[in-house]
Amino acid sequence: MEQTGMPVRSEISAVDPAATMTDPFGRMVSYLRVSVTDRCDFRCTYCMAEDMTFLPKRDLLTLEELDRLCTVFIEKGVRKLRLTGGEPLVRRGILQLVRSLGRHLETGALEELTLTTNGSQLHRFADELVDCGVRRVNVSLDTLDADKFARITRWGRLEQVMQSLEAAGKAGLSIKINAVALKGINEFEIEDMLKWAHGEGYDLTLIETMPLGEIGEDRTDQYLPLSLVRQRLAEKFSLEPIAYKTGGPARYVSVAETGGRLGFITPMTHNFCESCNRVRLTCTGTLYMCLGQDDAADLRAPLRESEGNELVAQAIDEAISRKPKGHDFVIGRNAAPAVSRHMSTTGG
Ligand code: SAM
Ligand code: SF4
Repeated sequence: MEQTGMPVRSEISAVDPAATMTDPFGRMVSYLRVSVTDRCDFRCTYCMAEDMTFLPKRDLLTLEELDRLCTVFIEKGVRKLRLTGGEPLVRRGILQLVRSLGRHLETGALEELTLTTNGSQLHRFADELVDCGVRRVNVSLDTLDADKFARITRWGRLEQVMQSLEAAGKAGLSIKINAVALKGINEFEIEDMLKWAHGEGYDLTLIETMPLGEIGEDRTDQYLPLSLVRQRLAEKFSLEPIAYKTGGPARYVSVAETGGRLGFITPMTHNFCESCNRVRLTCTGTLYMCLGQDDAADLRAPLRESEGNELVAQAIDEAISRKPKGHDFVIGRNAAPAVSRHMSTTGG
């Protein structure tokens, strides 16, 4: 992507390593996911409709504003930050934001800076990401079959992603593959994906489809409960639950036969909201306290109202004080999406 050539970094005060944010249910909020763009170069069938209307560019926060907002969150107790989207690597100049946020890794204020990507552009940026302090990436990949990949992503090519994985590995990035479990699509390929991912030295995490946004088809046709997938895998592999955590919602097992780690993200069959440590910021400065609820706080107005960060810090405190207990996802015939916005808006 083209670079904008503009400096991103804004001056910040020192970060208090003891700063924390706690919600009304006693959960500490230490993880921020930032959707840096709602745009994407793929149109995955479970994520987007083919014909999407994206935000006008003028509504987006600038990279400088995103950096300032993230910095306020870090000052308030965020320790892990994940850039996502849409496809984060299609946002113009995104590496400037990554480099700028990397300064918080150097001071130790931030423990980890990561990103979730579809892998289409990663080969171009892998070395620079490492240079900015990124150590781990999640690459979304639901199948190893090129035709199926083209059908799922509508616009993607498997070859691009494979090239990116190779480049990311060479650059020294740890890789986790995220695969959405899809009934009748990759349902009987999961075993092969597990063997492949672990053979390559990647972790693999399986995800249940969530009812977010209209996608132009019935989600009941896609939904595959991971309880069933796990049961099937357990017939062939020894799955040993382990305490490993990355800060996200996945629960991990080690797989004796492959020596690798397998994660399950089960918003439908096993709700994990009681341990939720996350909030999500969109590219317009809207803060969602829960992926599956409509309540949100606008941080763009307080950010722009003053050069200092007091107003935005207050708005964040107020938002965290009403973080809901959890989501109410239901997938069924004629069930409406839990929320009207797509996963690409809030960021996965
Ligand atoms: N474009 C990037 C990617 O695909 O990795 C980042 C954004 S994408 C929204 C983040 C993750 O959300 C991906 O792993 C994707 O498979 C997953 N995802 C998208 N829509 C979903 C849905 N409705 N239910 C469950 N996971 C979904
Ligand atoms: Fe794009 Fe990621 Fe959504 Fe696929 S899952 S359409 S790659 S944002």
